[in-house]
Amino acid sequence: MKIENLCVRRLIGDVAGATTHGHKMAIKGGYIYQTFQGGYTLSPLGWRVVRNIENIIRQEMDAIDGQEILMPVVSGADIWRESGRYDTVDVLAKFKGRSGTDYVLNPTHEEVVVDYVKSVLETYRQMPFMVYQIQTKFRDELRARAGLIRTREFIMKDAYSFHETQSDLEQYYERCHGAYERIFARCGLKNVVSVLSSTGDMGGSVAHEFQLINDMGEDTIYLCECGFKTNKELIEEGSEICPKCGKVLNKVRGIEIGNIFQLGTKYSDSMNLTYAASDGETKHPIMGCYGIGVGRTMAAIMEESADDKGPIWNMATAPFAVEVIGLPDKEGKTLPLAEEIYNNLKKAGIETILDNRDARAGEKFADADLIAAPIRLIVSAKNLANNAIEVKYRVNDIDTSEYKTSFGLDTYMPDVADAILKLLGK
Ligand SMILES: [Zn+2]
Repeated sequence: MKIENLCVRRLIGDVAGATTHGHKMAIKGGYIYQTFQGGYTLSPLGWRVVRNIENIIRQEMDAIDGQEILMPVVSGADIWRESGRYDTVDVLAKFKGRSGTDYVLNPTHEEVVVDYVKSVLETYRQMPFMVYQIQTKFRDELRARAGLIRTREFIMKDAYSFHETQSDLEQYYERCHGAYERIFARCGLKNVVSVLSSTGDMGGSVAHEFQLINDMGEDTIYLCECGFKTNKELIEEGSEICPKCGKVLNKVRGIEIGNIFQLGTKYSDSMNLTYAASDGETKHPIMGCYGIGVGRTMAAIMEESADDKGPIWNMATAPFAVEVIGLPDKEGKTLPLAEEIYNNLKKAGIETILDNRDARAGEKFADADLIAAPIRLIVSAKNLANNAIEVKYRVNDIDTSEYKTSFGLDTYMPDVADAILKLLGK
């Protein structure tokens, strides 16, 4: 991609309407565009980041034996009436078709997945299994805030597991907990904790939220030196004492980026999903459900890592791995060389962007900070005199102070490949 053709509008100077630093950088860099209050268009940059996060999630869900499916955004009201949630979920958006049919925009998919699994599940031998999807949801929230932190329409990974026994669910719940820790670590997020939470209108018994500790968060969480962690709902009013050890709890703000629930039989019961159990009886499977806000994860990375110049990704999430910047010289050598390097990297399958515009170096570097490719190659007359290309790194999870600051003109291809592997932690 050449920077002048990138369908993204970057802004210079201050940004109006942004409530947090991460939100400001998302708008400045042109990652998101507000189409309506609480609904965003992801630009080519934003969508590249989100797709990278989705791929990390897919790999980790597949690694715990998840099976990806895709359920519809819309469903009939009948399954929501069947579960009893049609009139109780306040964010449920309802509409009528021309024939008079009642529809909903699904804010979550328990009803839809249970309806699907009814068509599949016959015997205990099929369990356990987990299905998941990465899909758009809609919640008719009264308020939306801070860019992708709280929106009405959003992309979510939601997973549902089915078990014969409670202990089997508990074992799987632990596996999923581990997968979530790996997902957020691979996204470059540093201060993520899982805290006990209430199950809210999801039903069920045990639940955890994955919270990014951050001052911009809208949730309050309590941490204790002894390791106890919980959210506000589980702490009695006025009491900020650890129920485990009696010490005063440490109160911090958090951004919720994921949650996991042991649902029990709430939905298999209400919607009459059954199977033939190992003891010969007909039973309702025990369920777990597991969510991650995908766009919100991108927003969380920006809240945690952005500096004053722009967002800072890691190699796994960045929209481009490499940016090649040509600084024009009098002999006319640098720009053709920058283009050749760009073409070679592209041919090798490396996501690369080229800035050969006729613009000041300062403007190019400011744009590069917003696009935030972890590896930046600078082709200038000064460097060419030394048969070298200057390298700059911009990553949020690795100390690059020991890394090479220039690549040889003859060795830049293996040098770039080597740097990418190092930045990926390989
Ligand atoms: Zn404690």
